[in-house]
Amino acid sequence: MRPIHEIIIHATATPANWRAGEPTSAKVAEVRHWHVVDRKWSDVGYHYLIDRDGTVANGRPLARVGAHVQGHNTGSVGIALFGGKGGVADGMFEDNYTPAQDKALRGLIGKLRAVYPITQISGHNEYAKKACPCFKAMEWYRAPMNPRAAPAPAPAASPFAALLALLAKIFGGK
Ligand SMILES: [Zn+2]
Repeated sequence: MRPIHEIIIHATATPANWRAGEPTSAKVAEVRHWHVVDRKWSDVGYHYLIDRDGTVANGRPLARVGAHVQGHNTGSVGIALFGGKGGVADGMFEDNYTPAQDKALRGLIGKLRAVYPITQISGHNEYAKKACPCFKAMEWYRAPMNPRAAPAPAPAASPFAALLALLAKIFGGK
């Protein structure tokens, strides 16, 4: 497996109701067609695509380097959210995507972080003059709009444990 240390988020830049009612697989097939036929790439550029209902679809195999951000494909995972048409670079996640997509993206990031030493979560707009994914990735990640979808907060350090550690230090305990 190639080393992976970053997740980069994208928009498909399709309207919110694009191919509504069709299966996610049909939408992924359409994006793959754009990338393979129109751009002559070997496969769809993203590793995952997340539909409006929160369905997570596989794109290019994770083991292969993606084609989603020039100069940052090596070492990264590309995730695209269906939607984002007409969005702006400093927009809000909820202006462009559904709560189901919020939950699914957080879940996918959590799964990837459990396996790979991810040190960075970015948006395409941090590397190119583009609106994509139409929100600020790290601001979104740090401020969940759906608290139930949020990762569990780190346990607060106990003042008692800190006092014990201090006493042990003073009195030579180890
Ligand atoms: Zn993008």
